[in-house]
Amino acid sequence: MSEEKKKSEQLKEKLFASKKNAVYRMNCDELKACDEFAEDYKKFLDNAKTEREAVEATLNILKEKGFKEYKIGSGLKAGDKIYQNNRGKAIICAIIGSEPIETGVRLCAAHIDSPRLDMKQNPLYEDCEMAFFKTHYYGGIKKYQWTAIPLSLHGIIIKSDGSKVTVKIGEDENDPVFCVNDLLPHLATEQSKRTLSEGIKGEELNIVIGSRPFKFEDDEISDAVKLNILNILYEKYGITESDFISAELEAVPAFKAKDIGFDRSMIGSYGHDDRVCAYTALKATVDIDEIPKHTVVTVLTDKEETGSDGNTGLCSSYLKYFIEDIAEEFGKSGRAVMTASQCLSADVNAAFDPNFAGVYERNNCSYINKGVCVTKYTGARGKSGTSDASAEFVGTVRNLLDSENVIWQTGELGKVDMGGGGTVAAYIANLNIDTIDVGVPVLSMHAPFEVVSKIDTYMAYRAFSVFIKS
Ligand code: MN
Ligand code: MN
Repeated sequence: MSEEKKKSEQLKEKLFASKKNAVYRMNCDELKACDEFAEDYKKFLDNAKTEREAVEATLNILKEKGFKEYKIGSGLKAGDKIYQNNRGKAIICAIIGSEPIETGVRLCAAHIDSPRLDMKQNPLYEDCEMAFFKTHYYGGIKKYQWTAIPLSLHGIIIKSDGSKVTVKIGEDENDPVFCVNDLLPHLATEQSKRTLSEGIKGEELNIVIGSRPFKFEDDEISDAVKLNILNILYEKYGITESDFISAELEAVPAFKAKDIGFDRSMIGSYGHDDRVCAYTALKATVDIDEIPKHTVVTVLTDKEETGSDGNTGLCSSYLKYFIEDIAEEFGKSGRAVMTASQCLSADVNAAFDPNFAGVYERNNCSYINKGVCVTKYTGARGKSGTSDASAEFVGTVRNLLDSENVIWQTGELGKVDMGGGGTVAAYIANLNIDTIDVGVPVLSMHAPFEVVSKIDTYMAYRAFSVFIKS
């Protein structure tokens, strides 16, 4: 009987797909590597809360590793490390490979914008002797989650003389922070009848920025709190109210990345989506110590959360132009290079959450601690708006990850017709590039505080590493 069981167990092991927790498939050294990798990632998260700051942080890493700004027509050879900064909001870096460029590039594409509250162009107003900023939220948020938490303010202001002021308030321990107030439960009887999505409305996301009036020779004047704020801003930055019109100011959660759990197995932070893939793809790129076979191109893009439109988003041609420019350096057509290229669209997936089990299909969703997630297709309502990777390309990626002992899983975003979402995969695939989504499962995605597993983060790094070396 026991012998029978042993045989059936063996057969099961042979025929069933493994869905084991990654911990059981790793040794102590590998687990330690995951935990160590997380330390630098947390620093990146804290230093790069906006797309502009992510570009700055990326530039620092690239320059340190010997990457040089690419000038079109400057000539390229194998081993050259280059980057192109797109308006300070998106960045492409590349390492020229040893194989001819027409054999295609290995492309990783992640995004560095995250959901947040953007200031409107006329943000500042006073109401009942309190000063506020009006906001327009950016990306898909559950608005109620953005009340009653500390917010920091990041961005730039272009003054009337054309000079630029950089703003970053609320990150230093000694800085003030800001917040959106919510209604006390005692008086929330009417508010509680609203639907969850209307619990806090878009025009209620007003950020408190001050409450003390300007005091001028004991005279009471109107809008004195607003005046006081503008006076502080004038003294600090030399700006006046009309300078907000040419500004991009973003409010993001003021808290820092932290370990989660008694076992410290997870990281909680703002902006894992999609810094957890941007950082790992970037790190995989700069950590290459030999000239890669294929030219490696890693793009960290902007505007994914609002649909990828605009000149810093991947619906624009900036990535295509970059590949075309590189191809021309070798006398080849960009078209030929793109057709032969492969891409990992590096973006997060929704991790199964037992608290909300009903929206996931357990056989086809991703789980934390089961490795990096390979997603064949995204989209909604009958795969609409997706790039459905071919079985052949899934096969290529699958065999690569398995042969390099990268722990991975497959998963799609929730149950059919439960909702859905997309990534930049479709826009890259539309350039006639083989593309598939590969990324880290995230809990509480798009919340001010998202959660990922340290193991999955490290496995994303490993997946991008083996892919760009292939
Ligand atoms: Mn994303
Ligand atoms: Mn997102």
